[in-house]
Amino acid sequence: MLDAGHGGHDSGAVGPTGLMEKELVLDVTRRVARLVEERLGIKVLVTRDSDVFVALRDRTSFANKERADLFVSIHANAHRQAGTDGVETYFLSSEATDSTARQVAALENGVVQLEKPAGRGGNGHKVDIVRTILWDLAQSEFQIESERLAGIVNDSMTQSLRIGNRGVKQAGFYVLGGAAMPAILIEIGFVTNPREERRLKDGRYRDEIARAVFAGIAEYKRHWDQRTRAAGDGSPVTRTR
Ligand SMILES: [Zn+2]
Repeated sequence: MLDAGHGGHDSGAVGPTGLMEKELVLDVTRRVARLVEERLGIKVLVTRDSDVFVALRDRTSFANKERADLFVSIHANAHRQAGTDGVETYFLSSEATDSTARQVAALENGVVQLEKPAGRGGNGHKVDIVRTILWDLAQSEFQIESERLAGIVNDSMTQSLRIGNRGVKQAGFYVLGGAAMPAILIEIGFVTNPREERRLKDGRYRDEIARAVFAGIAEYKRHWDQRTRAAGDGSPVTRTR
């Protein structure tokens, strides 16, 4: 699942000459989607393919409902200091996660095995405890995979884009919370930096970004395929469609 940040009345960050994050990230996301679909033969879904507003919780709910194997959210950064530049990649930190939101999303999504129960007590108490443990285990597994994916994608971007490396970070991004799969958020550059804004307007540079994100996803998939082949299990990430 590829997720272009913002959209509609939410323009996201805006650059000094008017480049809007929502427009930039939609275009980059489309380029990434094309590459992943054509070259990896993986089915790609997007949370939006036009200039529409999509609520944050609906983005991961859609990914859960579709049983997506990975969730990659694409954003551009902003900073009060115009000189701030570079790429950074986030994965969800469980400490920072809003567990209520995660729980609500999981319930709404009907991801039965990964559902965190809403209440305590009553006849369902034991089942609820087991479910809670399973949900927490799944979340920590997703977090390990999310961190791995974030590292690979961040390396791929900083190595090929001649851009500052702000590193892999963890934070409680609402858009990543509730995802029942490894999930990352990529900040492809600062639209508020005049030099970066100029580059980010260029179609060829957008292609370079898309290729770098694609290369990261491809490498992650190679690692994953190797590990699951070695372990001999049929993990959902290797599911073919
Ligand atoms: Zn954003």
